[in-house]
Amino acid sequence: MSAPPRLGDFRRIVVKIGSSLLVDRKSGLRSQWLGALARDVAALASGGAEVLIVSSGAIALGRGLLGLGTRALALEESQAAAAVGQIELGHAYKEALGANGLTAAQILLTLGDTEERRRYLNARSTIKTLLRLKAVPVINENDTVATSEIRYGDNDRLAARVASMISADCLVLLSDVDGLYSAPPGIEGAALIPRVEKITRDIEAMAGSAGSELSRGGMMTKIEAGKIACAAGAHMAIASGKVMNPLNRLGDGGVATWFIPAANPAGARKAWIAGTLEPRGTVTIDAGAARALGRGSSLLPAGVVSIEGSFRRGDAIIVRDGEGHEIGRGLSAYDVDDAARIAGRKSGEIEQILGYAGRSELIHRDDLVLRRD
Ligand code: GLU
Repeated sequence: MSAPPRLGDFRRIVVKIGSSLLVDRKSGLRSQWLGALARDVAALASGGAEVLIVSSGAIALGRGLLGLGTRALALEESQAAAAVGQIELGHAYKEALGANGLTAAQILLTLGDTEERRRYLNARSTIKTLLRLKAVPVINENDTVATSEIRYGDNDRLAARVASMISADCLVLLSDVDGLYSAPPGIEGAALIPRVEKITRDIEAMAGSAGSELSRGGMMTKIEAGKIACAAGAHMAIASGKVMNPLNRLGDGGVATWFIPAANPAGARKAWIAGTLEPRGTVTIDAGAARALGRGSSLLPAGVVSIEGSFRRGDAIIVRDGEGHEIGRGLSAYDVDDAARIAGRKSGEIEQILGYAGRSELIHRDDLVLRRD
């Protein structure tokens, strides 16, 4: 059996925190626990990792603050509770992270922000900018506006989508379960599965049917999260947050189920670009640009001779040489009209031509896959 992955080896880590860890039904926010978690986050950050938090707890906190008790809530009541709880939650993270010299940044996402191309690109670039500026994004679903048809409802899958959006290499799901078990805990022979290389039907069956989901801590959504994370090349851990300093413990080889992806995030992204997309256009480039791509450079507008098709920023396009041979595929940083306007021009002229400062590359090398034949 291979050794478990080491948390300290990952460079971009999304940590999902379940409501039951943060909120006590009687006493409200568990601020000591959160303070200790913030110290774990600071330790990972000082080791050079970028850390993002996806935190639940808005509805649970708001329920307490509004005196709604423990009864089932109507949708609009949960939304109202989230509105009250989210302020409290954001404040708690600001204080806890701030005490460790970290700046908290609140981001509330809806399903559309992660699934619709333009909004996805915008959300992604904001999150990446925050990471560059060394802030810690604290993300939740925008529960006050998301209605049942258009919401995730669970932060496990939201966290996995965030991890895939920003090419994180690790996702940690902290909740009140310490991993995936071969049978419901308590049943004789139930054993924790330390490592999952592939999410097979057997593994899915271990998550239980929808009927037993509640008693097993929402294991189904965690398995779904595992599929999303692994497809994007991220490792995922399911670990218990029912202890103080849970990330520190996980880093020390603590109990968890680790889901192992087949590729790393860059490889997974490139496989996706090369294989599964329908290209929306073509750029033909000159010999100098083709040589530069061969050396691993990005495609700059200066090397572009002509452009065809109808594509938007983020769409896959084909790159051809002067003889019409396909030399690669990549994601365009510009809509076709803007790409045509800057074709053949120097990157320094982009702002003057388009009236806004876009990227200096038409296709960034991270978004480009060259053909190997
Ligand atoms: N977004 C919800 C909240 O903050 C929680 C969703 C979940 O528990 O996964 O209350």
